[in-house]
Amino acid sequence: MGRYQLYCPYCNSYLEEYYTLDCLKHSVLIRTVYEAKQLHLQNFPGIWKYTDWLPVKSPLTIDSGPVTYQSQALAKELRMDSLYISFNGYWPEKGANAKSCTFKEYEALVTYPRVKETGYKGVYLASAGNTGRSFAYISQLTGIPTVVFVPEQNIDKFWLPEPNTDTITLISLKKGNDYTETCRLAARLVGLLSSGTGWAPEGGAKNVARRDGMASVLYDAVHTIKKIPHHYFQAIGSGTGGIATWEAALRFRADGRFGNYLPQLHLSQNLPYAPILNAWKLKSREIKPERDMPHADEKIKQVDAAMLTNRSPPYSIPGGVFDALTDTAGQMYGITNEELRHAEKLFLDFEGIDIVPEASVAVASLIKATEQDLVNKKEIILLNITGGGTERLKEDIDLHTMTPHLTVEHADVSLDEIMELLK
Ligand SMILES: *Cc1c(COP(=O)(O)O)cnc(C)c1O
Ligand SMILES: [Zn+2]
Repeated sequence: MGRYQLYCPYCNSYLEEYYTLDCLKHSVLIRTVYEAKQLHLQNFPGIWKYTDWLPVKSPLTIDSGPVTYQSQALAKELRMDSLYISFNGYWPEKGANAKSCTFKEYEALVTYPRVKETGYKGVYLASAGNTGRSFAYISQLTGIPTVVFVPEQNIDKFWLPEPNTDTITLISLKKGNDYTETCRLAARLVGLLSSGTGWAPEGGAKNVARRDGMASVLYDAVHTIKKIPHHYFQAIGSGTGGIATWEAALRFRADGRFGNYLPQLHLSQNLPYAPILNAWKLKSREIKPERDMPHADEKIKQVDAAMLTNRSPPYSIPGGVFDALTDTAGQMYGITNEELRHAEKLFLDFEGIDIVPEASVAVASLIKATEQDLVNKKEIILLNITGGGTERLKEDIDLHTMTPHLTVEHADVSLDEIMELLK
């Protein structure tokens, strides 16, 4: 179960399995290749049903995972025959139990057992908010130690569903330092922490556990629909979810039972900050900062969907977003804050649950696609609601906040204090 090898699609070779994030020869997104060529459901809860195609040996007992259902009300409003929603968050009436309220929870769920299985004691990562919350939550549930670096201005996103915080070390970066600076600080630890200290860098898009955890959205959709969807809608910052869906679709195409095509990726960003949209419009493999993300600081501040404001997405890298869009004849959309708010309300009115701003961007892109005739409304459409149910969760439990153990001035501070904290 879940037996796999790591593979470099660039030099077509298999790598030795350990907690590696890269091919030794190139910078690429390495992939998992599973022994099981067909996905057979296992008798486990949540994402663990799909253990055949997850890079872990023994599943956890935590039962969260995507819930795919066929939309009635929104589908009728948009005149679509087969609109399916992948709901990722908290919505107990539908069976959705991801209490950190986004699909990042699955990335954490798969990363932790893999970190343990490859001999580490804990994980450290930088986060703009949602990733850190998901990893901290799964750290609460598994007891596996975790260090999270987060920008001070995003600390309000760092609530937790459980009270115990013993396994979590939270380090914040003073106001004015954004997510990119936070990543830079965490990256400075790589050389210091990885050799012999037992701390694994989480790895971002390069972490196959993260991508295959996100792939469970398509695993669940295909399992429910019994066909590969023709279209896939998702809002992106890094685009890792789009890459993961493409990789999952390649597995299903090879599986052969659900169609011999790939879903067209319809990916969206929140204007006025949309570097991937701008580069893709020109069919450029490079994101050129001055052309595609001018005045990034100011524009990032104007965006409602803060999780979509990545400055160095895995776009150009072989096996990244550019390749995923190319292989699936993909579309990119730019969505304004106004369109986002309209979509959020529409979704609440028609489907009956609150969703996060990022998910609202995807809903708005679906509306845009219908207005501009970019999808065939008779085909199977999958809408990824990447996060939702935060308001619903607050009705059921009290959320806990956490104060940082340490706040540092900038990304170039001396690492002594941080190292001391991690001993
Ligand atoms: C991170 C995040 C996204 C973007 O995901 P990527 O595919 O990694 O770019 C979208 N929605 C929510 C709620 C997120 O937390
Ligand atoms: Zn290689």
